[in-house]
Amino acid sequence: MEITRRAFIKAAAANSAVAAAAALFPGISFGAWKTLDQSLGRIEWKKTPCRFCGTGCGLLVGVSGDRAVAVKGDPNCSVNKGLCCVKGYHSVQILYGQDRIKEAMVRKNGKLVEVPVQEALDLVAQKMKETINDHGKDAVAIYGSGQWSIPDGYAASKLFKGCIGTNNVEANARLCMASAVTGFLTSFGLDEPMGCYDDMDHADVFVTWGNNMAEMHPVLFSRMLANRQSKNHVQIIDFATRTTRTSQAADKSILFRPQTDLAVANAICYEIIRNKWVNWDFVKKHVSFHKGKTNIGYGTEDHFKFQDKAETVDFEEYQAFLEDYTPEKVEKLSGVSAQDIKYLAALYGDPDKKVTSFWCMGMNQHTRGTWINNLVYNIHLLVGKISSPGNSPFSLTGQPSACGTVREVGTLTHKLPHGVVMKEGARKMAAEIWQVPVENIDPKPTYHTVEMFRALDRGDIRFMWVQVTNPMVTMPNLRRYRDGAKKDGRFMVVSEIYPTPTSDVADVVLPSALWVEREGFFGNSERRTQHNEQIIPTPGNTMCNTWQLIEVARRMGFEKQFPWSRETYIEDIWNEYIRFHDNPKHRMAPYNELKARSGIQW
Ligand code: SF4
Repeated sequence: MEITRRAFIKAAAANSAVAAAAALFPGISFGAWKTLDQSLGRIEWKKTPCRFCGTGCGLLVGVSGDRAVAVKGDPNCSVNKGLCCVKGYHSVQILYGQDRIKEAMVRKNGKLVEVPVQEALDLVAQKMKETINDHGKDAVAIYGSGQWSIPDGYAASKLFKGCIGTNNVEANARLCMASAVTGFLTSFGLDEPMGCYDDMDHADVFVTWGNNMAEMHPVLFSRMLANRQSKNHVQIIDFATRTTRTSQAADKSILFRPQTDLAVANAICYEIIRNKWVNWDFVKKHVSFHKGKTNIGYGTEDHFKFQDKAETVDFEEYQAFLEDYTPEKVEKLSGVSAQDIKYLAALYGDPDKKVTSFWCMGMNQHTRGTWINNLVYNIHLLVGKISSPGNSPFSLTGQPSACGTVREVGTLTHKLPHGVVMKEGARKMAAEIWQVPVENIDPKPTYHTVEMFRALDRGDIRFMWVQVTNPMVTMPNLRRYRDGAKKDGRFMVVSEIYPTPTSDVADVVLPSALWVEREGFFGNSERRTQHNEQIIPTPGNTMCNTWQLIEVARRMGFEKQFPWSRETYIEDIWNEYIRFHDNPKHRMAPYNELKARSGIQW
């Protein structure tokens, strides 16, 4: 075979990157890469969002023939401005693992055996219909994730909530982002961050709350470092329970005992008030004070519920409440010196400093996640450092479309693409757009994620379809749910790209297309919707998750609600979905604009 010097150098670089990656990640198959044709030929670069974390970097994927062979950051994307992290650089390898699932499988005599994908889809639809006939509509459920693209989540919600009439739709973001969502709702009445990544170019002080951005959001952390490098006065304060790479790069690292960040946040507010740093102009215009329960128990039991109706209080009552949180008292509780608490308060309180607070799972997976979200908002609200360039309390997401799909499409039991199932207006809007009778949409939420898996174990749920997540690894109290999924009379469908402990318990495995093998949309942490194009062909008999749902919906008799063609269904779904958000608060960009650009914020 003839090979040019240039092609040889490219191939050698690709192979040495693979060898390095294989050494870094023992156990992952890189074999298919090693057999790459040495002649990569002409590489064409195509834009796509990265779908491997919530940052939402714009990438350029190098394609040679039908194969994605390289990745680099897109310099035209305002999220990452050409940067890319190690996960992004290695992302195309996930497409080519040796054990990639490319065929449908059905369990026969205890073993998963390959079958034509149409046969597997027939079986899924038949089992869903049988389960609904025998046990009622609430005996079927779907469980997805923040890795669902927007059309996947939309099709799932329409099929289950609109057509079948069950609110058994949940996503793993319930386990990570729920406290961010309820934090936003209880503090502001509306979900999702008001800030954006551009705040990083304007802030004078960054406080990372239990948030190792250097390793978990490295591209954003690089933007933060770039700001500090360009301006001498910019400071990064890491406030955490352990020392991390972020602490090492920070100007100051403050460690606290786990759970005591709640008390420290209150102590910061105490100091802000004591030093008369309250921005009264802002507070009078925009802030009201409310008090909730301080003992809500812990939700580890089946059917756990609590009611907490906030009670309005005045500023003086709030101030009196904070008397319990003097820096000296909180020092004993938290291990953070009174001096450091006062230092943090002085940074937030300084009217000449713009402050951005960042957090992610450290706060959102806290045992009191909603409260710590509320308390950090309290700090920003007291000093009026919110919703202006550089001033932002910012909850980052971990998954690529936790915001775009789970929160905006609303793939949670209580949600609809606009509003909640409990509201008649929201049900009417959904029924009209979905072309289903309004009575189909149940006004009562059913199960949150953990309760949904408990219901599977109890037998209240008999059929569960899992897409883009691996609950048989990630659920708490796992043994109960793994055993529950394998009980007689349960039917598990798993849409997957590789074998996992969840596909191990499946009765049907549907082979999924991934990322650049299909078209879709994602929504990142800063309210940016991003279109991703299909760049390479789907391998084997893999199928986009959205199309799997459409195929099953049609087999169940919902052709009218799922009429789209294979060529245009993503565009058609987008055009239908944005009707839910056709209002000045949350209007989404048109399909062609999103296709042309590296994401657009709503
Ligand atoms: S930071 Fe996240 S979105 Fe950006 S390249 Fe890395 S994994 Fe992808």
